[in-house]
Amino acid sequence: MTTAVPLHNEKAEIQSKGYVYIIGAGPGDPELLTLKGERVLCEADVILYDDLVSSELVERFHGLKIYTGKRKDNHHFEQDDINEELLRHARQGKIVARLKGGDPFVFGRGGEEIEVLRKHGIGYEIVPGITAAYGASAYSEIPLTMRKISSSVAFCTGHPINKIKVPDADTLVYYMVASSVHDVLDAVVNKGWNDDTKVAIVQNATRYNQKIFTGTLGDLRKREKAVYSPALLIIGANINQFIEDNWYSKKKKVLITGDDEVRFNREKYIVVPLRTHRVDGADQKMVEQCFCGIEEYSVLFFPNRLSVTYFFKYLHEYGKDVRYLSKNKLYTLGNAAASELQNYGVIPDLCLEAVSPSEHIDIFRNKGVEHETMLLPCSTIIDEYLVKALIALKNKVTPLCLYSLANHEQDETIDLDFIDEIYFSSPTCVQNFKHCYQSIPEKITVTTANNTTETAYRRVFRSAEG
Ligand code: SAH
Repeated sequence: MTTAVPLHNEKAEIQSKGYVYIIGAGPGDPELLTLKGERVLCEADVILYDDLVSSELVERFHGLKIYTGKRKDNHHFEQDDINEELLRHARQGKIVARLKGGDPFVFGRGGEEIEVLRKHGIGYEIVPGITAAYGASAYSEIPLTMRKISSSVAFCTGHPINKIKVPDADTLVYYMVASSVHDVLDAVVNKGWNDDTKVAIVQNATRYNQKIFTGTLGDLRKREKAVYSPALLIIGANINQFIEDNWYSKKKKVLITGDDEVRFNREKYIVVPLRTHRVDGADQKMVEQCFCGIEEYSVLFFPNRLSVTYFFKYLHEYGKDVRYLSKNKLYTLGNAAASELQNYGVIPDLCLEAVSPSEHIDIFRNKGVEHETMLLPCSTIIDEYLVKALIALKNKVTPLCLYSLANHEQDETIDLDFIDEIYFSSPTCVQNFKHCYQSIPEKITVTTANNTTETAYRRVFRSAEG
């Protein structure tokens, strides 16, 4: 194998110096990340990600995640802080992924970051991403160029206001317009564009909450319209009359609670996973006690994906890896937990099918899950149905709460106005949802994974109706 030697050396070089990948994450839909972006993110030790990058995307990767966005005042990263952070991790020999919304070189300050890396002799590569203009164009059916109508397109910025330019092109796309739409429209008209020219504002392009406003230069200038970031303004004759009825708006949007995303085919649905986990739920003392006496447990029972993720997070913090678990049997419930375990190089001793809680006992009995001493890594909301089923089969169960459930820190709450269906995958998910959202709007269809979940849903959300 001729490649084996150079590859090994390359890796050794990376270890000593560190290496940075500046990656474009695309405009929002996580599937718009490139294959190359995905590969390097899988390799990254550290991921520094921006505001516009969805947490759904970031969470797929194992590197240490550092949010460098500006939404939260307490974590206000200025560009200098980001540069520092890039250098700090690279100097420790890490593979650093710098993940930015859209494309790093389109209003993305990627240019400034490579200057710093060059200056300090850190190696880097740039992985392009789909810029917001391309995302908005495709997901709202606005061709940016069109034969006989538009033969040129310009990407411009609406910020700062005193730098607004109106280039000589057939289609204009303005970024960063949330607070300057009217200034841009005025500038365009002042440059001699006709009041009848078509205009579209695309908010949250390619995301579940994509929204489009259309009009002409003349009427949008008169309208007081609030535009929320992120939004793009597109101006030109190529804007069709049918864009509000585009292919993307016809997809059903399903909010998924729990790990059952795979049930929903992304060709048919826009899947909006509800991210509700947070790390600060673990009782550190209890975690250490359990790890210290881990051999006392004949079985480590992982009821879902997150229980695996957090268990290994704490295990690594405790200074151990999977070899420490050589005396334990590892059981998983459901495919998501099993495949997460495999990410840590472990094949479960037993993969139990995730069924309705009322069927748990039968399944567990059939598989001989009886008379074990079990550690059950889980969230602070313990699945009482599962614990009861295990205890009924004479298992001794110790729940180990590793994470608590709340809205993800830098995520905005999901806007239920855009949701057509909510899917609850377990009674615990119903409780978690109630924790974050008091009620469910009438127009939303609710579906549940099984009878027990249905009962829990009715008890929690429909009890007032009798
Ligand atoms: N590098 C990014 C742009 C960063 S500047 C890219 O290539 O797309 C930030 C601006 O990008 C926002 O103010 C908004 O104008 C635009 N933008 C980014 N994501 C967007 C989205 N999903 N929908 C609409 N506009 C978006």
